[in-house]
Amino acid sequence: MSALFPLSFVPGHREPESPGDAPLVFAFRGRELLVTPEGALPAVEQIDALGLEAVRRQYVGALHGKHCYSLELAPKIPPPGALEFRDLRMLFGRLDPEHHAVAGRAVQIVEWDRTHQFCGACGEKTVQNEIDRSRQCPVCQFPMYPRLAPSMIVAVEREGEILLGRSPHFPPGIYSVLAGFVEPGESAEESVIREVYEETRIVVGDVRYFGSQPWPYPNSLMLGYTAKYVSGEIDTTEDELEDAKWCHPDDMPNTFPGNISISQWLLNDFLERARSK
Ligand SMILES: [Zn+2]
Repeated sequence: MSALFPLSFVPGHREPESPGDAPLVFAFRGRELLVTPEGALPAVEQIDALGLEAVRRQYVGALHGKHCYSLELAPKIPPPGALEFRDLRMLFGRLDPEHHAVAGRAVQIVEWDRTHQFCGACGEKTVQNEIDRSRQCPVCQFPMYPRLAPSMIVAVEREGEILLGRSPHFPPGIYSVLAGFVEPGESAEESVIREVYEETRIVVGDVRYFGSQPWPYPNSLMLGYTAKYVSGEIDTTEDELEDAKWCHPDDMPNTFPGNISISQWLLNDFLERARSK
């Protein structure tokens, strides 16, 4: 389901001796990627010619044998020449899917590197570790890895209907499957049951794994599940949802357009199964 075939990309933290032929450079201003007006990754020569000064640089790994680098540019740098800065979410369907997947890794490495220059425990300047992708404090030895926040997303079904909710942050009229962060000390399945109950007062069971998707906005790993209704009536007064309802395939509310995220894959899976009956 992910755009990146697992074995076409070899992650790495140690920079090779030479960048080799046609390396791929993912240059970021904040979380925005430097792209051509068509939304493609610029050639390395095109980036080099701009003479941009990188605050920091990281080796990310190799895609089909081509070395990939991330560059952190100064936060307020104007768009150089004919190139543009674009949020990765705006580049779905434009940037090559494999480049998009590597860019999702690269932006998180850039962000981790930028925010872990000093020890969170004692304040000392940190150093990059040789053995893995981490920085470490030379005084108190505190290690710092890129942050990854596991989140769950779930399609709850009851007699041919699906439970959809509306967050106040969604565009008007849009509904989606329920989602939330996994808390320290709970399994992903426990998190599914807790979140659905907290948001809607519905009790679910038969929680089954569906698939996952990295979601680097800013650093989630979305774990997708399906679950079955057990008991309860919808009540959204206790939590963050504006509304929730059971939806029949023939009477669906508006949902996020496209087929780029696991919320849409879950929804499409439900609709396909419903229509094949
Ligand atoms: Zn320290």
